[in-house]
Amino acid sequence: MSRFTRATVNVSALRHNLERVRALAPGRKVMAVVKANAYGHGLADVAHALSAADAYAVATVQEARDLRGAGVDGRIILLEGIHRADDLSTVSELDLDMVVHDHSQIKFLSNESKLRGVRVWLKFDTGMNRLGFHADELPNIYQTLRNCPAVAKEIYLMSHLACADEPDNEHTRAQIERWHQAMRGYAGEKSLANSAGILVWPRTHADWVRAGLMLYGVSPVAGFVAENHLLQPAMTLSSELIAVHQVRGGETVGYGATYECPEDMMVGTVAIGYGDGYPRFRRPGARVVIHGRQCPVIGNVSMDMTCVDLRDVPNAQVGAEVELWGQQLPIELVAQWADTIPWVLMCGITRRVEMEYVAEQAAPSEARAC
Ligand SMILES: *Cc1c(COP(=O)(O)O)cnc(C)c1O
Repeated sequence: MSRFTRATVNVSALRHNLERVRALAPGRKVMAVVKANAYGHGLADVAHALSAADAYAVATVQEARDLRGAGVDGRIILLEGIHRADDLSTVSELDLDMVVHDHSQIKFLSNESKLRGVRVWLKFDTGMNRLGFHADELPNIYQTLRNCPAVAKEIYLMSHLACADEPDNEHTRAQIERWHQAMRGYAGEKSLANSAGILVWPRTHADWVRAGLMLYGVSPVAGFVAENHLLQPAMTLSSELIAVHQVRGGETVGYGATYECPEDMMVGTVAIGYGDGYPRFRRPGARVVIHGRQCPVIGNVSMDMTCVDLRDVPNAQVGAEVELWGQQLPIELVAQWADTIPWVLMCGITRRVEMEYVAEQAAPSEARAC
């Protein structure tokens, strides 16, 4: 290994978090949302680790193809369905479930003469206004799909929540009301909850829950971290110090000379930057963990390197392990410092970062040094 910048994914944590979903939504089926390379954790490895899920959910046909290519034979739901008619043959060939949220997709299905038994999730809009039919259209569309020879007998229904991550939110209450009203009289299995719905809004659990973020051991709820929900962070992003030096008081650090040393002090340079997906920070307070201590990030994060204040870890030397987020430092905090959300951070890990999979808690850095 030429560079020590890596994302360690603890597959035991993934499994633990799936168990948490089951404990919070007992008796419900669980869709493991593994779109966007399993939120940056690695599609195939995560899918295999979560084989106890009742289905996987992805955003694109290519993601579904990649899952099948990795030997995954469980159910796979295309969360946005398909966008062109000839993808219907792929849906059939790969045995996928597809969401139907638009009239164009109904046309694809109606024009299909050979295929049979396509499993459809009819998506309607309860107030997110991103995807889905209006509730008024539901009865007609439902009937059209029932009469469509290509479509399987049982039709599933779903909708999506816009603000479930805010407890006590009025918009969510209104969405839940619309959901329950529109669902009256439909026999098929139904799905509304994302992670925040699972954690905060039990009335959204329905028959299927769609767990994304929480499976990776991250809280979607503002002001909370994983352990508040008894979740375990699955990813630890770490690197190492590649330089340690003393900088004189009054000298500045990094591009733009934005940080001025208040005194003579030890400054460490970490081999990670935005070229790895580590964010530039817009708010004060960003920290990393070295030898179990939180050390401030100083100056601007650059493409390959990040400087840190080593005054609290006088023994830190070149080669010392640095945790950017994970077991010792909640990604929820890092997201706040960067004025972004944990989803963005995890999806932003670049290919330069080595992925590593462990089945239990990662060994401490000392054991890894060579
Ligand atoms: C991504 C996605 C989810 C998962 O959301 P999390 O907040 O990560 O749990 C659920 N449902 C739909 C439709 C999605 O697009």
